[in-house]
Amino acid sequence: MRVLRTLDGRSYSGYRELKGAYDLGSYTLHIDHVQGDPFAPPSRVRARVHADLLRLDEKLLDNVDRRVAVEDFLTRRLVAGMEALGLQRRGSGRSGVILIDTPGQVVLPRSSVCVTSEAIEVRLAVGLPGDGRRIRAKDAEAMFVDDLPFILLHALSRSTFPFDELSEHVTLYCNQCYIRSELTGRGLIAFVGDGAVLARRNGISELPMDANLAVPFAAPDSLRVTWQLPSGKVMSGMGVPKGVTLIVGGGFHGKSTLLQAIMRGVYNHMAGDGREWCITDETAVKVRAEDGRRVSRVDISGFISNLPRGRSTTAFSTQDASGSTSQAAAIVEAIELGARVLLMDEDTSAANFMIRDARMQALVAKEREPITPFVDRVQELHRSMGVSSILVVGGSGDYLDVADVVLLMDEYVPIDATHNAEQICAKFPARRTVEATAPLSPMRERSPFPLTLGARMERMDVKSRTTFQYGDEFVELGALEQLIDESQTRAAAAMIRYALARYANGAKSLHTVVGQVIDDVYEQGFAVISPYEGCSGFYALPRPFEIGMIWNRVRALVIR
Ligand code: ADP
Ligand code: MG
Repeated sequence: MRVLRTLDGRSYSGYRELKGAYDLGSYTLHIDHVQGDPFAPPSRVRARVHADLLRLDEKLLDNVDRRVAVEDFLTRRLVAGMEALGLQRRGSGRSGVILIDTPGQVVLPRSSVCVTSEAIEVRLAVGLPGDGRRIRAKDAEAMFVDDLPFILLHALSRSTFPFDELSEHVTLYCNQCYIRSELTGRGLIAFVGDGAVLARRNGISELPMDANLAVPFAAPDSLRVTWQLPSGKVMSGMGVPKGVTLIVGGGFHGKSTLLQAIMRGVYNHMAGDGREWCITDETAVKVRAEDGRRVSRVDISGFISNLPRGRSTTAFSTQDASGSTSQAAAIVEAIELGARVLLMDEDTSAANFMIRDARMQALVAKEREPITPFVDRVQELHRSMGVSSILVVGGSGDYLDVADVVLLMDEYVPIDATHNAEQICAKFPARRTVEATAPLSPMRERSPFPLTLGARMERMDVKSRTTFQYGDEFVELGALEQLIDESQTRAAAAMIRYALARYANGAKSLHTVVGQVIDDVYEQGFAVISPYEGCSGFYALPRPFEIGMIWNRVRALVIR
């Protein structure tokens, strides 16, 4: 890198001249984006090694699922390699750092590594070395000539590569995809494998509870299903059928933990997580109350009507939703985006949205209560719209009347209590009146609008997994429990920006627009949403639901 030597000691902005591609023998370096000073977000580079270095079996790359698993495995190996190297600082601020996106417990399509039959491309962030605002060229050279090749060779050389581990990683991922793709055909919406460890180490950890503390999952016999997997393995566990499933049981008996595992089962967990055989319909959406959020022209009239002062609920808008209106809107928005399964937990639901019992019906006349409680819609959602629900309801026996399956959690062991619940319903009839007077109206789709004429694209910045800044607005995403990785949030922000410019036209539905962006990323790679030439390595693919849910929450974006 001769050009580097001419930069030594010059002002840091001179690094801009480095933009471009360099053949460094063992790899090709692409410098795509150069930081302004040593304290700014690190520069973005790509390092390409020839496919011959690793000579992966072609079969590993001829299908999307396998490729995702391979790229995830290589990313994890690079992460481990960098940790082993223990990079030293090479000046002020972030000088000398080399970063790669670090996956968590879940395997996601990511931009960190891209494998083709010709090359393996690794996308990194590097802190170009400086002393204050002076370029430290020798250190920069050492990073590109010593550190980076060391990391690449350490992780990607054929001679030391653990091909068996790679093969296991890929097989597990493909088996998981297989079960998910077969669920619908077998009339199921979720599967929880026998032996699964659902509980986490603590309330803020994603790691599994110690094996000697956790009660492993065991399916009730009546709900047990088995799969013959493509790899030959046979897997048994609990199949949750379409329809309405209740999870009941005493407090602290593991109800929410089971629902959380089901909610996370829309993703594939890596070996050792404990939830690798928790597989859920990919369209399952966790719905919850979220007071204070904005809602834009959502038809919630099936759940809420006759608001005080004649306020519309067929196109309900607010900058500050209540618990019940936010939960109603979340349900409608999820179905609008294609959800076939709703997941709800009493812990995060609005009590008055879930139920109105006989005594309250006697005290407050139906005309004075805008809410049609969910208990009176949940069966209809299944029968007329094909939308199933799994609900954690420990506190209201009125739900037993509308359940197809009742799972009783007893000291972390699920028992099929469906029959027992039927007998109880016959013996103690609920005296409440069903409050759904008119059928649910068909879903109306809403359309996102492009930016109004003359409005400039606001700055979009992802601060963390749960906060997204659009212009001056901070959008709180904590309620999106299935948005699990900061790189998903980052990708969603870039995808919304891309879709605003390309697909949002005020006529296409949100569902269509989001689907088009995801198709583009699958077909052309993450580079299509990257704000600079090349590709950022810090994206992970979100589901269409999470992209739509973020869009729905940005007050500055118009959806009608
Ligand atoms: P509930 O929703 O029924 O009140 P939770 O699901 O919140 O109960 O679980 C209560 C506690 O029990 C949590 O601390 C959780 O980590 C723990 N727990 C849940 N499932 C298991 C299990 N299978 N084995 C051991 N501990 C568990
Ligand atoms: Mg709970």
